[in-house]
Amino acid sequence: MLEFITEESLAARVAALPKIHLHCHLEGTLRESTFLELTARDGLPTRYRPGANGEEDRSPREPGRVYTFADFPEFLLLFAAVSRALSRPEDYARLAEEFAADALRRGVIYGELFVSPSVWRFFHPDLDLRSCMAAIYEVFARVERSHGVTFRTIVDLTRNFGASSALETARFAASATELGVIGIGLGGDEARFPPELFIDAFAFARSEGLHAVVHAGEAAGAQSVRAAVEHLRAERIGHGIRAVEDEPLLALLREREIALEICPTSNLRTGVVGAVEAHPLPQLLAAGLRVIIDDDDPALFGAHIDDEYLALARLAGESALRGCIANAIEASFAPLSLKRSLEERLRSTE
Ligand SMILES: [Zn+2]
Repeated sequence: MLEFITEESLAARVAALPKIHLHCHLEGTLRESTFLELTARDGLPTRYRPGANGEEDRSPREPGRVYTFADFPEFLLLFAAVSRALSRPEDYARLAEEFAADALRRGVIYGELFVSPSVWRFFHPDLDLRSCMAAIYEVFARVERSHGVTFRTIVDLTRNFGASSALETARFAASATELGVIGIGLGGDEARFPPELFIDAFAFARSEGLHAVVHAGEAAGAQSVRAAVEHLRAERIGHGIRAVEDEPLLALLREREIALEICPTSNLRTGVVGAVEAHPLPQLLAAGLRVIIDDDDPALFGAHIDDEYLALARLAGESALRGCIANAIEASFAPLSLKRSLEERLRSTE
């Protein structure tokens, strides 16, 4: 009973904390009910199974059983199916609108959201990417005016489409800075598409003044994190949990103050960590790394940012929470004046 009460009040304290998104894919926030509505509207299946012509699962699914998957490859296919459901600029406006409403309700005060336009275009070759980015930006600008909360976007280059597509997507990102784009990211199949393939795309983006972040050390080992830092000059690493296997790499991350964006539930659901007690988050904190906590694809994983902050409190103690939020403010790409005001908002809740 005592434990129950403690857990309840911990949840209330977490709910009251200001929150920062630095590792959240906008498409992965699509509410399941909206996904079902959009797929029904366009007559699309809720699963994507490439190469298996005629074998796509078109049977209607019950709400609550749609966002399910067995492993990381299957998760990527679900992410693709969700992206396919977003077929018009107004769908992106709705996605941004619902994301912002959910985030504000959870106490989010700043966010840098990943978007994957090369995935959108893969499914809808005629889609006007600029109009979609503008639709998202318009919603975010309105939220900024009405709530004083800033959301920006980071364009994911998506490993699976290869090096030349990545360069093309980086060019698109550079052309969309007035629509809230501040950087590029690299997600997708890390095991088959290592960082070295994307050196040109990242060099181009850097030369255009874009920030660079990379998913690494999630589905591949410490070497992938090192390559992301050394070859792509990643300023933050998405996940990076397998850096824990390499002591000199931990020293490098510490020295360069490269933040690790850790999403505990995501790691469990995709199977990259076997059990919650095996999660290396406490070791990474103890090693003095700049750890930040986020929720990756919250609708798909069924765990939102407040759940992930709770997971941190359970894994590393409640005292770790404020430090990780302060880390997120510091590791964000917000202008200095905004960082200082976010810090002030964090302090005001002490
Ligand atoms: Zn991610």
